[in-house]
Amino acid sequence: MTLLAEVDKLLSFLEAEIPGNINTPKNQKLERSLERDLAKYFRRLEQAFPYSKLAGIYNRNVKESLASDANGAIDPVLSTLKGSLDVILNGHAVRAYLSASAEMISWGQTKAGIPITFEGPPIQDAIAYAKKHTATLVKGINEETKRRLAQVISEGIEGKRGIPGLTRDIKKEFSDMSTMRAKMIARTETNDALSQAFMDRSKEMGVKSKSWITFEPCVICEGNGSEGVVPLNHVFGSGHDAPPAHPNCNCALAPSTRASK
Ligand SMILES: [Zn+2]
Repeated sequence: MTLLAEVDKLLSFLEAEIPGNINTPKNQKLERSLERDLAKYFRRLEQAFPYSKLAGIYNRNVKESLASDANGAIDPVLSTLKGSLDVILNGHAVRAYLSASAEMISWGQTKAGIPITFEGPPIQDAIAYAKKHTATLVKGINEETKRRLAQVISEGIEGKRGIPGLTRDIKKEFSDMSTMRAKMIARTETNDALSQAFMDRSKEMGVKSKSWITFEPCVICEGNGSEGVVPLNHVFGSGHDAPPAHPNCNCALAPSTRASK
C-alpha cells in the first residue's frame, strides 16, 4: 500500500469515530502521558541502582549465583519504588478506561440511537479494572526489569567489562527502558484499558457485534482484521477478544448494532 493510500485509510477510520480507538489525538495524549511517567520511573530506578554493590557481584564472578546476586541488588530498589509504579499505572488505567467509556456512551447516543439507561461514567468499573490489572502488570514489569539487568550483568562479567564498563552498560539498559520500553508499555496498556471499556460498555449497551480494525497490519492482527463483523463475545484467531494482541498493538475494535453474518 502506498503511503498516501495508508493515510487515506487511517483518515477514513478516524472519521468513522471508532470509540476507544487508541489512534485518535485524544487517546494518543493518554498514551504519551503514560510514556512520560514510565520514562521518569525508569530514570529513578537508574539513579537508585546500588552501583556500589557491582564490585562485589563482579568479583565473586560465580556464574551459578549470578542471577540471585543481581536480584539481591535490585530487589530493594524495586520494592522502594513499587508504590510509585502502582500509582502511575493505576491512575492511567482509570483515565483511559473512563475515556473509552465516555466515547462508547456518546457513540451509542449519537451514532447508534441506543438509549442510555445507566447514569454517569462507570467509575466503579474503572477502579475495579485498574486494581486487578495493575497488580499483574507491576509484577510483570519488575520481573522483566530483573531479567534484563541480570542479563546485562552476566554479559558484562563474561565480556570482562570491568566495573566502569558494567556501570555504563547498566545505565544504557535503563536508558533503553525509559525510551523504547516505556513507549511499548504505554501503547499496550493504553490499548488494554480502552478495549476493556469498549467491551464492558458494549455488553451493557446491547452492542451486537464488533470488528477488528488494524492500523499497522502485522502477522498476528491481519487475520483478526479479515474476520469481518463478528458477535461481541467472539474470540478472534489470535486468541483475543479485543486488542492488544501483542506488545505495541495499536489495533481497535469497531462496534456494530447489526447482528453478524
Ligand atoms: Zn494489533
